[in-house]
Amino acid sequence: MNIILFGPPGAGKGTQAKYLVKKLNGYQISTGEILREEIKKDTDIGKKIINNINEGKFVSDEIVNNLLKNHVFDPNQKGNLIFDGYPRSLSQAKNLDLLLNESNQKIDHIFFLNVNKDTIIERIKKRKILEKRSDDDLDTILKRYDTYIETTRPVLDFYSKNSNFHEIDGSMEIEQITSKIEAFLNF
Ligand code: AMP
Repeated sequence: MNIILFGPPGAGKGTQAKYLVKKLNGYQISTGEILREEIKKDTDIGKKIINNINEGKFVSDEIVNNLLKNHVFDPNQKGNLIFDGYPRSLSQAKNLDLLLNESNQKIDHIFFLNVNKDTIIERIKKRKILEKRSDDDLDTILKRYDTYIETTRPVLDFYSKNSNFHEIDGSMEIEQITSKIEAFLNF
């Protein structure tokens, strides 16, 4: 079963992704984490993308799509892909469809964790203290939110008419969101 967790930064996609990975013995594909790993290892890609990430801008589709491909076709993954932070644009959504088609796969569920801007700002301020992410300062959060509204939110039109699209109030407590997801998955 392949699942997309969709929503603004700070919606709780990563937290729910980790839960689903455990529950389904799945494989998390968090493009944000994959990109941060490149920066940590100081690879050529890491050097190219560090400024974009710190400024709250997107990394190019070319780089993200290439990294994504390696994970979708990773021989160590045994299915149950949990996408967290991808797709983030219409072209990425179309790319994901193509990529999955190539391996006779599809998206089984899309969960949209909907959260308002004020809640996001409060959550990310707390995350900054815990995780010390360089892109979690206030200016960058605001920039990331604007990018989400301009480029990512329109992707909802691509998915929202599907019967496997589920909108969840992402301002609820973590456990409540998990219960809603479980109900949709009939756990
Ligand atoms: P995240 O951990 O999902 O909040 O992502 C952190 C940052 O990584 C984002 O603000 C973007 O700069 C970059 N990023 C993550 N996923 C993508 C993506 N699918 N497309 C472009 N940039 C991305």
